[in-house]
Amino acid sequence: MSIAQSQAGIRRWKRKKERLAQSQRMSGRNTRGTGWKHSAQTKNKICISNTGKVASLFTRKKMSLARKGKPAWNKGLACSSETKERMSLASFKRWKNPAFRSKLTGKNHYLYIHGNSNAPYGKDYTYRLRKQVRTRDSNTCQFCRRGQKETRITVHHIDYNKNHNKKKNLITLCMRCNSRANFNREYWKTYYYALLRKTRK
Ligand SMILES: [Zn+2]
Repeated sequence: MSIAQSQAGIRRWKRKKERLAQSQRMSGRNTRGTGWKHSAQTKNKICISNTGKVASLFTRKKMSLARKGKPAWNKGLACSSETKERMSLASFKRWKNPAFRSKLTGKNHYLYIHGNSNAPYGKDYTYRLRKQVRTRDSNTCQFCRRGQKETRITVHHIDYNKNHNKKKNLITLCMRCNSRANFNREYWKTYYYALLRKTRK
């Protein structure tokens, strides 16, 4: 045996001893915040042993609270075309079901307000007024800031009253943001009134 070989052996033995000491130091201890990280092998072991385990209600509540306000793991990730296909098929199937369809169409729709969509606008809701409101809001949706080039721009009645045609009740929104305001009406009413007041000052 050469000197180099024996030296390499000593080094290997030292490393082994270090690793052993390290593992003895860390065994049964909380590794959080110590700079100590699990090896990929250990991580895999933990993963396998945790698979299928259901945390208690208390733990789940704790996990939920810790995650509050943080973006979801799939935020900003695009669906694969396979997933999109699956979602499309599921939706198609759902809409074929008459029970589901009847709940979301016509008078049974949960946002249906009797006779509201066909009710006429007040006489003072003129093209000129709408034009003025659009110009005031520089032809952009006041919520998502998209302009005429990107989407269709509409004028929205903040208090949902088609006869209340004052400029302080009108705001420029795109189609998407306008239909969003059909739900949670009280919230959007106060939101857009506040927004208008803020932009005026
Ligand atoms: Zn918008």
